[in-house]
Amino acid sequence: MTVYKGTIAEFVGMKECISCLTVQDPADYTLPGHHIQDCIPLWTRHGKVMINAKSYMTLVDLFKPDMYYLLSDGDTNIASPAKRIKKAVQNTIKYHNECVDIHKNLNGVKNSFVMGAIAGGYDLNARKQCIEGVCQKDFVGGYLIDGLHNNGPEVELLQIGEISPVVEFVVNHIEPTKLRSIHGCWNPVVVLKLVQLGIDLFDTSYCYIVTERSCALTFVTDIDDKEEMFELNLRQPHFAEDFTPILTGCTCLTCSKYSRAYIHHLVTVQELLGPVLLTIHNVHHYMTFFNNIRKCIGNGTLNLLEEKVTKQFCTSENVVDSEKDVLLTDGHTESTELIENDTYRNNENSSVPISS
Ligand SMILES: [Zn+2]
Repeated sequence: MTVYKGTIAEFVGMKECISCLTVQDPADYTLPGHHIQDCIPLWTRHGKVMINAKSYMTLVDLFKPDMYYLLSDGDTNIASPAKRIKKAVQNTIKYHNECVDIHKNLNGVKNSFVMGAIAGGYDLNARKQCIEGVCQKDFVGGYLIDGLHNNGPEVELLQIGEISPVVEFVVNHIEPTKLRSIHGCWNPVVVLKLVQLGIDLFDTSYCYIVTERSCALTFVTDIDDKEEMFELNLRQPHFAEDFTPILTGCTCLTCSKYSRAYIHHLVTVQELLGPVLLTIHNVHHYMTFFNNIRKCIGNGTLNLLEEKVTKQFCTSENVVDSEKDVLLTDGHTESTELIENDTYRNNENSSVPISS
């Protein structure tokens, strides 16, 4: 990139898309620990790379993304001790201020949309302290609720009841005009609940982890959709002679041209085209889901979509039983309360949910 001098979007041939730079990859498990003074560890294909505010902002300046997140210490989860949470908050405030100061002197990021981060694990006092530390300078366009987990596939199993107190607290304590973002491969039921709590921006790591287990998303994305399976595992032998598309009516390239039987063959023989075709369908399906979330917010039917997706999720054979139990016992009550709050519609300045 130093030699190339262009933007990262031009470099990868995707300048028609919005490029967004995150500190950690939400799709991959982030190994905890390994912090040293003023640096956080990034785990790359070549091992551990320690990064500080200066080296991070040098990267941002080289990549020139349309949007980027300021360096933060999100290495906390529900089991983190108070000492680690305190350190994460101190580091995040420090990195925030350092990155903002450096940003002002860089030419490459003049037009980039900047997102800050709120750390503090599951400790509401720590979250408050972090908000007070980073929200003093009205510089960023929005905030990431960081430090809820260590990324990777396990996020799919996290339950809304565990994270909602933190999410509600942060949403209620940051300026309503700021974009609110949360990272991780949350299942669609949790996504709908997070939208109701006021979250605007998600990522597509869920599509990646579903593809990694050779599955295709088929859950309902609209209130008028016919109920199919929540997702299909294309490795299952009965797909060997199923010559229908993954999802009838889907307009993606995969469903337009290929059958379940062909994709079953590809994933069985571990041909690279298998996950490529699954990714095309899964991302298309997930984007359709978000388009419909925006539509449902507009016409006031988000609660109907949530009911339908939750029911399908709870009756699907592919879903972990412990998740279903939680949703069937207390998930519904919670959902009703959240809809009454109408966080997303009371705030006129709030943007509509998007997936990056
Ligand atoms: Zn498709």
